[in-house]
Amino acid sequence: MFGADVRADHRGIGDRAAAPAPDRPAARGLEQGAAAPYDAAGAMSEPLLSVVVPVYNEVESVEALCGALHASLSRQPRTYEIILVDDGSTDGTWPALVRLANRWPHLRCIRLRRNFGQTAAMSAGIDAARGGIIVTLDADLQNDPDDIPRLVELMSDDVDVVSGWRKDRKDPFLSRRLPSMLANGLISRITGVSLHDYGCTLKAYRAEVLRRVRLYGEMHRFIPALASWVGARVIEVPVRHHPRRFGRSKYGLSRTLRVVLDLITVKYLLRYSQRPMQAFGKIGLSLGLPGLALLAFMVAAHLSYRLFGTGWAAELIKRPFWVISAFLLILMGVQFISIGLLAEVLSRTYHEAQAKPIYAIRETIESPS
Ligand code: UDP
Ligand code: MG
Repeated sequence: MFGADVRADHRGIGDRAAAPAPDRPAARGLEQGAAAPYDAAGAMSEPLLSVVVPVYNEVESVEALCGALHASLSRQPRTYEIILVDDGSTDGTWPALVRLANRWPHLRCIRLRRNFGQTAAMSAGIDAARGGIIVTLDADLQNDPDDIPRLVELMSDDVDVVSGWRKDRKDPFLSRRLPSMLANGLISRITGVSLHDYGCTLKAYRAEVLRRVRLYGEMHRFIPALASWVGARVIEVPVRHHPRRFGRSKYGLSRTLRVVLDLITVKYLLRYSQRPMQAFGKIGLSLGLPGLALLAFMVAAHLSYRLFGTGWAAELIKRPFWVISAFLLILMGVQFISIGLLAEVLSRTYHEAQAKPIYAIRETIESPS
């Protein structure tokens, strides 16, 4: 399951010598959907590898990041583009990115209108990416760009997602590593895709697989599970991790709660999104049927009291607890079954409105005519 082991390298990324930035014409401002941003010998028109980085208030890091990315990427054979997505930074990150785009080739910077969150920023970068392989990583130099060529190398015909594992993670234990260990165990168990490190942004994806996965909420960490759901094959390899050198983490403990809520959504999507009635109907029936049985029993008991004058039933019916319970259970049963029906309709609208099939084809071959 795990690929080549990681070399220990604790030099800071910014300390490494990167090739000096070549001079190039000033980057033009780009409207959304426009063609390649500059003409550097056509190198940008069809890159094979797209590197997507969400950037939020990382002004001190972006320069070193850019240098390190170019140093690593120029040592590997594929043509590449680097997409930096400024997620509504307020610390001067955008002017810094504009300066970088004027100095470095293969760079595309996208500026979101406000802070939409890491998942949305990654999504914007993925949508803009043109490579057949997409690598994502953090902007804060905690992930090491030197690991990218190795991840891409491991992407063979049999592998669609190469997931980074921060085996020697440089974050505080109590607030980060412990919750992360628990979360990874829980996510692995619930999604059935067993990984040590869902939270590591440094991962390589086959673009066609990634494009099939729509991201909402804080879902970027679940991409390997969502991808495996559409048939992708996922492997995990250890990658380096460095302590944060500049700025501060954008997250705290409260993220754990959001991850758990997203996990419920993912589980639902994985298991029931195409047959929601099975999930809600089961709950509805298991509440509604006992309610009906209780009601029937009370009606029978009442009748037997009226007809035969036996006393025990009168006691039961007089207790509001039983009457209320019966009706409450029936009501909840009806509610859950109705939610199931609504969800069935929604699920059909979801798939049909996007012409989204309920299957994913890996390849098709035809005999020669
Ligand atoms: N990030 C982002 N939008 C946000 C929060 C974070 O684009 O609203 C980026 C951030 O700039 C960094 C990455 O997401 O590149 C991971 O954030 P951070 O390093 O704070 O998370 P941690 O490594 O502490 O889990
Ligand atoms: Mg970080």
